[in-house]
Amino acid sequence: MYKCSRCKEPIRTDINTVGIQCEKCGSKIFFKERPNVKKVIRAR
Ligand SMILES: [Zn+2]
Repeated sequence: MYKCSRCKEPIRTDINTVGIQCEKCGSKIFFKERPNVKKVIRAR
């Protein structure tokens, strides 16, 4: 599960899709949710 880094909206779109944006705020930076690690990923 990914979440938007700006508004924390869950991203339901496939993260590997090029050019995805947050449905809510249009941000292209997302967090990948993991138990311990928060990895920031950027849409290409
Ligand atoms: Zn957002």
